Amino acid sequence: MALTESISNRSAKRAPAPAIIGPSRPMRLTVLGATGSIGKSTLDLVTHAPERFEIVALTAQSNALALAALARQHQAEFAVIGDELLLGELREALAGSGIKAAAGTRALIEAAEMPADCVMAAIVGAAGLRPTFAAAQRGTRIALANKECLVSAGHVFMAEIARSGAELLPVDSEHSAAFQVLNGAEPDSIKKIVLTASGGPFRTWNLAALEAATPEQALKHPNWSMGAKVTIDSATLMNKGLELIEAFHLFPVSGEALDCIVHPQSIVHCLVSYVDGSVLAQLAPPDMRTPIAVALAWPQRMSAPTATLDLARLGSLTFEAPDEARFPALRVARAALRRGDTGPAVLNAANEIAVRAFLDRRLKFMEIAALVEATLDAAERQGAICPAHCLDDILEIDGLARRLAEGKLRSF
Ligand code: NAD
Ligand code: MG
Repeated sequence: MALTESISNRSAKRAPAPAIIGPSRPMRLTVLGATGSIGKSTLDLVTHAPERFEIVALTAQSNALALAALARQHQAEFAVIGDELLLGELREALAGSGIKAAAGTRALIEAAEMPADCVMAAIVGAAGLRPTFAAAQRGTRIALANKECLVSAGHVFMAEIARSGAELLPVDSEHSAAFQVLNGAEPDSIKKIVLTASGGPFRTWNLAALEAATPEQALKHPNWSMGAKVTIDSATLMNKGLELIEAFHLFPVSGEALDCIVHPQSIVHCLVSYVDGSVLAQLAPPDMRTPIAVALAWPQRMSAPTATLDLARLGSLTFEAPDEARFPALRVARAALRRGDTGPAVLNAANEIAVRAFLDRRLKFMEIAALVEATLDAAERQGAICPAHCLDDILEIDGLARRLAEGKLRSF
């Protein structure tokens, strides 16, 4: 059962999936957020199998030179820089290459709308919503790394996927694992989906130490090399909270059937319990090129230059319950999921403000979850946690939540 079939249990009818791209024709691939951690891992896979891909568009926010270098290396058709002030620099760096260059929000959407077989959605944060939504409207395959899109706009986004017949393949490692494990499962047969969390760099720290944790310490993830935002989210465990919401939209289970467990080695990425007592899991070394390869090649498999899992060498895999007293972000995110409507959109927006403020040393580590919770409470009092009918509704609430969080930040 493809993910989109499992989704159709919730959503209305959907159009048939696009034809599988066979070895006879390369996949036309666009990468939104090409200069980031996921973007670079995606293009690394392309470098290892150039015959499989044709690069359509590449985008980035502020590193025009890195974007131009990637566009030249992969002979992209179109390169887009988010920051309009950098268009001149991008054009100059692409001079003579024949690659079209553009800048700004509208151009990011144009890149997402170009005819492609697959769009890798790897912009970080709510900034990815409009471009990813544009790709969904085109009905193409979307390899979704931008979890914030499902967290903020899950219902609206999934409705658009169902309407357009787009194929949604998760890139987040835990969701890719669940997607692979659930293959063929009837919704009634699933008892629980358990996402694993590494526990981050502060897994064993006490509260007093957590109070004093610095951005440098939080940015040192023990297992994964990722962008700054998701690395801080991993340290607070907000990442796992966002991922529970992401899983809620991707898989046909209730919020109560979703759980997480701390697994410091990051080898098991997800466990699915079935009603007959079986538990199936997916294992892989912690390398994002595996879930990216799954999303690009599904239902086939493509070779990825990753390490081979050697369990004998590892010796043991360990698991422990997450501690919500030391990592309250998990509790706050679960409450937002239970609250529903625009609760998760407020959660996400407030968290983006809080993470930025922590990185800028305007907020302490333990205050990240506190600011998010205070923003959710304020939004509820203002009646801003309400049903959303379209992306514009979500973006309006996102903006309001950011203003509320910025206001509250001054009193922290
Ligand atoms: P990153 O910070 O390394 O890269 C982000 C990319 O988005 C860059 O290309 C950047 O130029 C672009 N970008 C940033 N702000 C933008 C804006 N306002 N408008 C347009 N483009 C913008 O991030 P990442 O770690 O690659 O993560 C990307 C997404 O994937 C996030 O949603 C993250 O949660 C998710 N994810 C990442 C990992 C990982 O291992 N890195 C794992 C799972 C999920
Ligand atoms: Mg993840």
